[in-house]
Amino acid sequence: MERTPVSMEEALARILRHVPPPLKERVGLAEAAGRILAEPLVAEADVPSFRRAGVDGYAVRAQDVLGAAADRPIRLRVVGTVQAGDPPLDRPVGPGEAVRVMTGAPVPDGADAVVMLEHVEPEAPADGGDEAGGASEAGKAGVFFKAESRGAGGRRAEASSAAIVVRRPIETGKNVIEPGEDVRRGERLLSPGERLRSGAIALFAAYGYSSVAVFRPPRVVVISTGDELLEPGVPPAPGKIYDSNAPMLVAALRMLGVPADRYGIVPDRPEALGAAFRLLVDRYDVLITTGGVSDGDYDWVHPLIAELGGEVLFSRLQMKPGQPTSVARLGRAMLFALAGYPVASFVGFHLFVRPFVLSALGVPPERARMPEAEATLEVPFGRPSKLPRVVPVRYRFDGPRLVVRPTGRGRSSHIAELAPANGLMVVPPGEGLPEGAAVRLFVLDAFD
Ligand code: AMP
Ligand code: MG
Repeated sequence: MERTPVSMEEALARILRHVPPPLKERVGLAEAAGRILAEPLVAEADVPSFRRAGVDGYAVRAQDVLGAAADRPIRLRVVGTVQAGDPPLDRPVGPGEAVRVMTGAPVPDGADAVVMLEHVEPEAPADGGDEAGGASEAGKAGVFFKAESRGAGGRRAEASSAAIVVRRPIETGKNVIEPGEDVRRGERLLSPGERLRSGAIALFAAYGYSSVAVFRPPRVVVISTGDELLEPGVPPAPGKIYDSNAPMLVAALRMLGVPADRYGIVPDRPEALGAAFRLLVDRYDVLITTGGVSDGDYDWVHPLIAELGGEVLFSRLQMKPGQPTSVARLGRAMLFALAGYPVASFVGFHLFVRPFVLSALGVPPERARMPEAEATLEVPFGRPSKLPRVVPVRYRFDGPRLVVRPTGRGRSSHIAELAPANGLMVVPPGEGLPEGAAVRLFVLDAFD
């Protein structure tokens, strides 16, 4: 078979043409964190829906305390108390009056500002008398003014003659949260494709939702191929290695919010792999194989794609590692045939599977691609290559600069380079790169 190599960009472009439209499902709010929103959240009402007190204090008419000063105290009669959660007061605040309000309580009509508790002097009812003017001795001494206890039923104005003294003016609107100040009715708060973080959950909860429409993740299965592979738990044996690709891929998918199944290990026999493909194409949206995709005597992936009438999107990459990486359509499923070496599978997953899976999950294309940045290489990278090479690196911030260093020697068979890697850098064809070179960095731990 002729296997014409394609560039990384071309390979991805071909893959993204096959993204199926995502399906929706509803999940409880508690399970929605990390899922992708499927429907816009449009504000059904103003938030807050009523004028609320922003602080504990006294609701007043700003014009009443306009002339207040340290040496010009103004006395206001306290005509009621409203706690957060109480219905609005049954009477407006009139001239010379104040209503004690708690944070979050409805501000009574007539009042247009809330004086902070700390900015008033309470005047004990007994000392207050009725004349306006100077604060009482008790008030100056800071006798604590206790809110009167709540009556049953609605919030009623109180007949009490308690009073407060204010010694500074207040701006109209101060400490009053107007209806719609936070959110206006009809405003689009969240759009489909948004990953639901805790702040978004709070927003749904603020509108009283108990469930939310999210996209259903594609059904993904990981198939390991190779006679050399062992399942965990079995004793090591000469010539054998434990399957590390499948657990790595399942973990990487899980970090994207996509649960994946494992089919297990398929030996290098065409009947075994053929049976797996026939069984899985109708049950999954995405099949990921590792190994068996080269042109070796025991590489059965390509002959089987042909036998099953699959449509090959590409069968060779113009990059390292993972030159034999191939992608095909098998029925309605996508087959990502990743190269066997651990770094090759890892790179192939991030560059090709990840954008597809995220798009299938409803993430918009620009955010489904690997996030990238320009970074500075901290050490020389000395491996010459005729093809672009993708190398696991660790990036960090050096002040405002992003700097990277390879986590190993850029050998695709070396598994230890993967664990510390938080990025992948692209080394262009040539003799390698000197220290200080600017490199293209794919960021592994950034999410959409
Ligand atoms: P292949 O492309 O099938 O010839 O695989 C190339 C090499 O990749 C194998 O010889 C193994 O060393 C390695 N390999 C393949 N599959 C896995 C796997 N699931 N886990 C770890 N290493 C693997
Ligand atoms: Mg193999």
